[in-house]
Amino acid sequence: MGGTPTDLKLIDERGLRIDGRRPDEMRPLRIEAGVLKRADGSAYVEWGQNKVMAAVYGPRECHPRHLQNPERALVQCNYNMASFSVEDRKRPGPDRRSHEISKIISEALTHVVFTEYFPRTSIDVYIEVLQANAGTRCAGLTAASVALADAGVPMKDLVAACAAGKVADTVVLDLGKEEDNSGQADIPLGYVPRTGEIVLLQMDGDLSPEEFDKGVRMAIDACRKVSEIQRDALKRRYSASSADVDAAQAVPEMPKEGP
Ligand code: UDP
Repeated sequence: MGGTPTDLKLIDERGLRIDGRRPDEMRPLRIEAGVLKRADGSAYVEWGQNKVMAAVYGPRECHPRHLQNPERALVQCNYNMASFSVEDRKRPGPDRRSHEISKIISEALTHVVFTEYFPRTSIDVYIEVLQANAGTRCAGLTAASVALADAGVPMKDLVAACAAGKVADTVVLDLGKEEDNSGQADIPLGYVPRTGEIVLLQMDGDLSPEEFDKGVRMAIDACRKVSEIQRDALKRRYSASSADVDAAQAVPEMPKEGP
């Protein structure tokens, strides 16, 4: 949030944004579930120019052991941004920002997973940002909950996420990179449609209470759409796998070679 520089017009005369979107329009979102063979569950998300992969392992024995909870599973997220994902090469390895994002995503997912079913275990969620263009924590959380469902982890519901914010004195949905850099505020939000709970909420910048309410309402509406796209991805994945099974069963077994 750097304040609007005079030479960059974030909203034009027609009320459209720098990439042609209306204020309440989300960037195109595509989700694919079950993309990695060696993870227990996985998902790939393309959201505008963001490209994010999520992989889930577990529930499995929790290491180090002193972290084990005898009553519930620990949901441990690791968010990582690849060096090549951003314009100025990012120094590899964890930093303050990635620790913060890993923590808030772990907490958001802990709210929906039935952790009490798996005492002493860890459910490990890896989020790899391959290409970033603002909104990667929302894309990461959205991908992670699809990957958890793909892994068969029981949950109250999927968490859907989307940000709202303010650019050129206008409340807008799902900020792109220029808007994030030069806008006035950003509110990433994670939402559980089935219960109406907000499980992630941050704010960067300044908003009046009315603008904040408008932004939150806009983000929640968008999360409901995100949730449908998440469900469609899982339905496609599982109808495709059952079609594979049907096809495999339809193929007659080849006669074995003689001794
Ligand atoms: N970004 C970057 N280098 C970094 C961290 C972030 O270029 O080391 C960019 C990246 O495009 C990211 C955006 O800044 O998506 C906004 O980052 P922010 O911390 O607001 O998180 P995000 O919006 O991705 O959840």
